[in-house]
Amino acid sequence: MRDVFRAYNFHEIRTPIFESTELFARGVGEETDIVAKEMYTWEDRGRAQSDKGQSLTLRPENTAGVVRAYIEHKLWDRGLNKLYYMGPQFRRERPQKGRYRQFYQIGAEVIGPATAGSESPARDAEILELLATLLDRLGIKDWTLELNSIGCANDRAAYNEALRKALEPVAAQMCVDCQRRAVTNPLRVFDCKVPEDQPIIEKLPRISEFLDEPCRKHFEQVKEILRSVAVEFQENSRLVRGLDYYTRTAFEFTHGALGAQNAILGGGRYDGLSEALGGPAAPGIGFAIGEDRLVLALSESAEAVVRKPDVYIAPLGPGMNKEAARVARELRRHDIVIELGDENFRLKKSLETASKIGAKYALIAGENELSTGVFALKNLATGEQKAVPRTDLARAIQS
Ligand code: AMP
Repeated sequence: MRDVFRAYNFHEIRTPIFESTELFARGVGEETDIVAKEMYTWEDRGRAQSDKGQSLTLRPENTAGVVRAYIEHKLWDRGLNKLYYMGPQFRRERPQKGRYRQFYQIGAEVIGPATAGSESPARDAEILELLATLLDRLGIKDWTLELNSIGCANDRAAYNEALRKALEPVAAQMCVDCQRRAVTNPLRVFDCKVPEDQPIIEKLPRISEFLDEPCRKHFEQVKEILRSVAVEFQENSRLVRGLDYYTRTAFEFTHGALGAQNAILGGGRYDGLSEALGGPAAPGIGFAIGEDRLVLALSESAEAVVRKPDVYIAPLGPGMNKEAARVARELRRHDIVIELGDENFRLKKSLETASKIGAKYALIAGENELSTGVFALKNLATGEQKAVPRTDLARAIQS
């Protein structure tokens, strides 16, 4: 992941694990499930007057923290506008496979003054292409990119109105959640998973019919670039986010093998977020990958990503630990992954361990090897054993 982020000129940012509750209330939105019922919040007992009673929260997501840091440290002055993070997030959800109360996200944000191009559809396409590259490089196949544009605040006001109207005559036939949403936040109706409600939801007006000209153009350009870099996507007009500072592009990557919790990652544009948090105008777009789900999607092909040791070094006999340590140090400098045994282990046991941990080679370091400078290098897959001079070891292993 770090390699991919580097290729796109992203830099790592680490924000605190907890921040003031108000940041999340404003940055994520009071009316979201996250803020309304899922946050771990407590009152600080600090002795300083300024700390006392301050409400603090374990971060439920990381975009608010990144944008807070962007504003507080004027990161735009330092040209830092492409940032990525990796770390734990906390939400009080009902745990199940792929859904945990402490989970891990890997995410990135592109944020900056519009003059720096942060509003450009090229950024949206770049982010989506980066994600396709990430998943492909991890060997994750069968992902689907679902894409939508939710326009700007004006479009959504008109859309909300239309939704409310359309829901009025049918809401009574829907689930209780939808009956409430139809009044308070009609966009959230699209989150409904109740099968009986789906035919009604299918017939509701779509946001795409309400996009103004600049938003429509922006979306067209995102799609045009994606086609030109051959990143496949599906338009999904049900993919919406309810908050005012979410704008235009919204997306999700899903994976068939994950079951009910099938979203590996989600993201979108938030052109109004910086201002909502008291900062300057700074259009932005970002995503958060659920690392736990990514690992679940990976597990079938995990062999490919978990690097096994290249060599197990078996020190043979008294005094050989220190010699083995020297050989290990030399080889590790060549980026060879080494696991070390102990001089008290019998050779048979060492070879068994070496096979068990999946090492490619076992290297025997005994008196003999040291005095002659020639080592026995055993290929554990084929059983073939070769005598290799010390100076050739790294090359022999790497070839
Ligand atoms: P969100 O921040 O809600 O947009 O979620 C982004 C991604 O984080 C989702 O697509 C999931 O992969 C992951 N995610 C969200 N909540 C959880 C959770 N409770 N447990 C595990 N992964 C989660």
